[in-house]
Formats: sequence, structure tokens, C-alpha cells
Amino acid sequence: TIYLDHQATTPMDPAVAEAMTFAATHCYANPSSPHAAGIRAFREVERARGAVARFIGAGRSEICFTSGATEGNNLAIKGVVRPGAARHVVTTAVEHKSVLDTCRSLREAGHEVTVLPVDEEGRVDPGQVAAALRPDTALVSVMLANNEVATVQPVAEIGALTRAAGVPLHCDATQGVGSLPVDVAALGVDLLTFSGHKIYGPKGVGVLYVANRLSDRAPLVPLLHGGGQERGLRAGTLNTAAVIGLGAAVGVLATGREAEAVRLAGLRARFLSELADLVPYVLNSGTGPGFLPHAVNLSFPGVDAQQLLLEVADLAVSTGSACNSSAQEPSHVLRAIGLAPERIRGSVRISFGRFTTEADAATAARALAAVAAREPARSA
Ligand code: PLP
Repeated sequence: TIYLDHQATTPMDPAVAEAMTFAATHCYANPSSPHAAGIRAFREVERARGAVARFIGAGRSEICFTSGATEGNNLAIKGVVRPGAARHVVTTAVEHKSVLDTCRSLREAGHEVTVLPVDEEGRVDPGQVAAALRPDTALVSVMLANNEVATVQPVAEIGALTRAAGVPLHCDATQGVGSLPVDVAALGVDLLTFSGHKIYGPKGVGVLYVANRLSDRAPLVPLLHGGGQERGLRAGTLNTAAVIGLGAAVGVLATGREAEAVRLAGLRARFLSELADLVPYVLNSGTGPGFLPHAVNLSFPGVDAQQLLLEVADLAVSTGSACNSSAQEPSHVLRAIGLAPERIRGSVRISFGRFTTEADAATAARALAAVAAREPARSA
């Protein structure tokens, strides 16, 4: 199989697997235990915490390990917008469901939510964010990059204005953290989430960054109560091996990210030009600087993408977002950028990764084109 679905998840880097094998073998003790074995596990966990903190320009005390971005997004949003007096939240129409559905649950609990529209590239206008702020706004949540159309949001610009207004800013950085530089101070965020498995780390582990300036003022309300781990923010014995694997994953990422982004953009260009020679398609995402370098979303006119993928054996790509692919409804992101139902039906999401070769990109283009070229005739 040629795996071109790195926005859904990534294969584990061998260095991560090695670190996790070490952890599973040698760091099995509970990192909260005061005996020598516990202290050894604790030290490795703290080393990983340090690596994650450095990776995003945070302090170690600002890193909370979670089970992934879904939990991180829930914790960030429900943790800040506490029960009680109704408050207001601002977000965008193209967020992941773990943000949008969390906001919906707040709405059901009596809070107000403003969901801002995006332009045809999937980008939110910082001016609209500013205009949406109210005296009772408790939080703004804007993703770093989109998981379907790869749009990079103007988070730093939004951060400057939320900071000036004294409103906390949360950023779901799950899709950007692997290929864009992420520095919490430069972005101006108070909360930031990501998952291990999108950056060649393990599944079931993630990070919520909570700025000390925010938690000092008003500690987040935890979702999980219990043993007081993670400074009381997230109870439960840490998944030591996964945390250590995540530490290794950010260690690998921290070296050579820029060169890798250039290589990935090159693979995408190769794939698209190869494809263009063989079959007509339209791009649903951009390939310039305002988009992730490794991903593209396109539609084959007249083709049903679900059917197409069934017929392209040995190629792993996706239609819309695999994160909620059980839902058969058309992608909320593709609708938000204004695509017609027909174009959504034909849309395919392709994302290249660390182990993708030039040959993979070319072979994938030919395989997709071969099926796409005969599909319209069949459905006509
Ligand atoms: N946010 C974004 C932008 C994503 O792409 C995903 C993954 O699918 C998530 C959140 C959820 O991540 P996880 O499934 O690891 O909790």
C-alpha cells in the first residue's frame, strides 16, 4: 500500500518505537511512586515533558499530557468556559468536530457560541474575530491548520487582538504542529492542543498547553477527577510509554523540519503535475504559503470519490475527513468554503509524509488517474 493519508494519522517513526520499547521495558513503574523504579519512570516522563515544552516554546509546568487532541480540545474549552453564568465563545465553521461539538454542548448548557464563516480558501478573517468579541466572551478557539483543506489560519494575528482584548485564545494545532513552526508566544495563544499520532508518535496520547498566566488567574475545570495527576488538571496514571514516545516524536521533528516541508511540497507538486497529464481535476485547497506543504484536496468532475477509493487498490487516501468518516453527510468544511454538492462528492484528500518517496507520488497519481478516467463514463 502507498500510504498518502498523513492527515488522518502517521506511521510511527522507528525512533519512537524504540523509545516506547525502552519505556515499556524499563519504565513500567508508576511515575507517581516514590520508590527508585517510580522515580526512573518519572524522570523519563519529565524528560518528554521538557522536550514537548521546548518544541512549542512553553514552560514545562504548562504542559498537560492527555489522551489526544479530542480530549485536549474538550478540556481546553469546557475547562475555561465553566458551568454557571452564561458566557460567550467564538470559533470558526471549519474546526474539527472535537471543537465544534464541544461548543455545541456548551450551547446546550446555556452558553452562546458565535461560529464565524470562512472565505473560499477556508480562512477566517481576523477582523471578524475582533468584531465578534463581547464583554462576556470567555474564549476564542481557532485551529492552526485545517485537516481537510490544509488552510493555515492567521492565528498570530488573532492572538494579538485577543491578547489586547484580554480574552483567552485556544488553538487546535493538531494539523500544523508537524510541518509549521509552532511557538506559543509568537502565536499569542493561551491554550494549544495536539495529538501524538499525527506527528509519527503513538496514538492515544496528546498535549494540552495551558499558559501559566491563564491557570494562575483561573485554573481550568478538569474533565477527569481522581488522583490529582498533571497538577490536578487531568487525573489518571500517565500512559508512560506513550508519553515517552511522544517526547521522542517531537525530538525527531525538531530537526530538519524546514527542509522536510520543502521536500513534501515537492512531492505534492510532482503528484499534481503527473495527475494533470492524465485526468482533469479541480483543486479544493491551495498549494501556496497559506496552506500545509504536504496536503492537497481535489475533485474529479463527475466522479464519486467513495466509489473511486474502493476501486483504487493499494492506495490509502481519503474522502473528506477520515476523523469522522463514519458520518456519511457531506463535509462541513467543504460546505463552509462554498463547494457545490457535486464537487464535494468527488473530493479526495491526499497527504504526503516522512516516508513517502518520489516514486510513491508518481505511482499514486497514475493509479488514481486510471480509475478516475473511467469513472465519469460509468456514472453517466
Ligand atoms: N483536531 C484536528 C484538526 C484533527 O485533525 C484531529 C484528528 O483527526 C483531531 C483534532 C482529533 O485528534 P484525535 O483523534 O487524536 O483526538
